[in-house]
Amino acid sequence: MPAQLPAGAKIRYGGDHNPEQWPREVWDADHAAFDLASIDTLTLNVFAWATLQPDEDSYDFALLDAVVERTVAAGRDIVLATSTGALPPWLAHRHPEVTRTDFQGRRHVYGQRHNACPSSPVYRRLSAELAGRLAERYAGTPGLVAWHVGNEYGGFDGGCWCDLCAAGFRDWLQQRYGTLDRLNDAWNGAFWSHTFTDWAQVVPPSMLSEHWRGPDHTAFQGITLDYRRFQSDAMLANFRDEKARIREHDATTPVTTNFMGLFRPIDYHRWAADLDFASWDNYPPGPREHVRTALAHDLMRGLKDGAPFWVMEQTPTITASRDVNPVKRPGVLRLWSWQAVAHGADAVLYFQMRQSRGASEKYHGAVLDHAGRTDTRAFREVAALGAELAALGDAVLGARTPARVALLVDWDSWWLAEMTDGLNRHARYVDTALAYYRALWQAGAQVDVVPVTAGLEGYDVVVAPMLHVLHDGVAGRLGDVVARGGSVIASFWSGRADEDGNAFLMDVPGPLAPLFGVRVEETDSAAPGVVNPVTLIDPDREGETAEAATTHVESVVSEASLVFEVLVPQGAEVVGTYGADFYAGRPAVTRHRGPGGGEAWYLGTALDDAGTAWVVRRALARHGLVGPYADAEDVELAVREGADGERTAFVLNHAEVAVDVVAHASGRDLLTGRDVAAGETLHLAPTDVVVLREDAQTTRR
Ligand SMILES: [Zn+2]
Repeated sequence: MPAQLPAGAKIRYGGDHNPEQWPREVWDADHAAFDLASIDTLTLNVFAWATLQPDEDSYDFALLDAVVERTVAAGRDIVLATSTGALPPWLAHRHPEVTRTDFQGRRHVYGQRHNACPSSPVYRRLSAELAGRLAERYAGTPGLVAWHVGNEYGGFDGGCWCDLCAAGFRDWLQQRYGTLDRLNDAWNGAFWSHTFTDWAQVVPPSMLSEHWRGPDHTAFQGITLDYRRFQSDAMLANFRDEKARIREHDATTPVTTNFMGLFRPIDYHRWAADLDFASWDNYPPGPREHVRTALAHDLMRGLKDGAPFWVMEQTPTITASRDVNPVKRPGVLRLWSWQAVAHGADAVLYFQMRQSRGASEKYHGAVLDHAGRTDTRAFREVAALGAELAALGDAVLGARTPARVALLVDWDSWWLAEMTDGLNRHARYVDTALAYYRALWQAGAQVDVVPVTAGLEGYDVVVAPMLHVLHDGVAGRLGDVVARGGSVIASFWSGRADEDGNAFLMDVPGPLAPLFGVRVEETDSAAPGVVNPVTLIDPDREGETAEAATTHVESVVSEASLVFEVLVPQGAEVVGTYGADFYAGRPAVTRHRGPGGGEAWYLGTALDDAGTAWVVRRALARHGLVGPYADAEDVELAVREGADGERTAFVLNHAEVAVDVVAHASGRDLLTGRDVAAGETLHLAPTDVVVLREDAQTTRR
């Protein structure tokens, strides 16, 4: 389903507001402060179920009425949440089966949030009922721009392992497989005498059944893979329940839920069609995670075919959930907010507008602290950013990213590669994807992060890190890219398993082998820190063009680690060879050229950043996709292009030092109003941002 975004005249700015947590005299102070910060959009009612429904038979909207009324009076737009992300105590008390059972098999009593069993009929009935009553009451409210269903689905342990879920799992399996013969085949039931003769014998994979050590250690990957798919679908059914009830009363206002970026428990690709627009909560795990964040933005933008998304939450200062919670340094909030816009965000919202008085997020950062001060550094930075966004107006609203590069992300591959015995527990899916993304990012390539089911016709370069599970049709679509002259790059552990999670009974990388012209003879692993040097030699070193000769390094030695596939070329050229161990001199990296001039690169090991960049830049350069700031470390270029073809280039300095770069285009910096001429020196202070509306036809290649 194509994206349907809330209408608006500018990048929305605001966040979660919880006035139900403090006295009414504070509400006026809040709104006065919001005026100072150009706040235009507030998310209301995220966790208020206990207030809205004091018992099973009564509802009370008086407080929410007052909150909504005050927000409307202030002229601010509203994102209205359905409050179903945390159970009220009476509900768990009256219907104990509504709470989650954890992976250890323990039925939880009451507490926390994200605490409902997704399969519970009571939860499904009452959450949908609440969403319906909210929609009935508030549909048509002036300034209601979006519905926010639930909150951070899967946020606690990623699921439930109760008897209700067991029954739901059996139903799901019957839908998927039809017969027990097919199920037993999919799960390779002949192993360890796991042949099921009745659906009732199937139980959820947990520490009471197939697992040892934890969620990633399962005796039967097929069972655990299916359970992850089932739990993702069960929570999606919860979302659908609520959305359907909202639609009974409100046919048009867009509906979303706040995702969490690179979040493993939920297959966001399987959810994407049900959301009207994508939104996510951006909490980078560390102070220098701007590349990982860029990948997450691109993943979220890819959910709705490149349409803009929202940052539903970010913190102005600190988070509260980590052992150590450093504040964002001066300028970082602004830098990361503009990074979001640069990657396609049409809203930049906070959690939270005012600090909670007590409980888990009492010290979580907020626009307003407990004292409500507007003379703090944090508030000043929030207000300054609000003024910039207001001044930008609609300049990039709705604009898209003109990407010629795709990076494939696949939850099945993520799940299976990380739960399979016999590989290397230290080689992680996101780390691998991030290694390739980092090389693309530093080279200034605009990247769409898309599912393996996506059409690849629009891309010159397709990168498929750890394509562990090979879905039907993927090999063919990658082959098509090469056949029309494009470039494909794949990593180790690709083409290993079918959609059931079973190995292909053929050479690795399975059905991908003809495309890459290579087979894997054996796979060695090593602990982190063990290095095998891989020498990469330019396969085009003879007869290359003059331009290539000046931009390509002829050879490089890369410190490879973790996984070492020993490759046997079957038509591919050898580009990299191992330097140590009994397979010294054997191929580690290959390139297979297709008849149409396309190239299929296979990297059988985890090269270091320099080695990965060496390969990735070769592929990009062949298509003219290396960006103008590729050699300025930690300088990011992201482009949005409007329907009218107008290009806005965001140049972001994530380095901790000032950097001088040569402007790639003429245009006007929309933040300063300054005219920039192509070729002039742009001085970028640390955390600096330039939003360059390019003059037509001035881009330097
Ligand atoms: Zn359950």
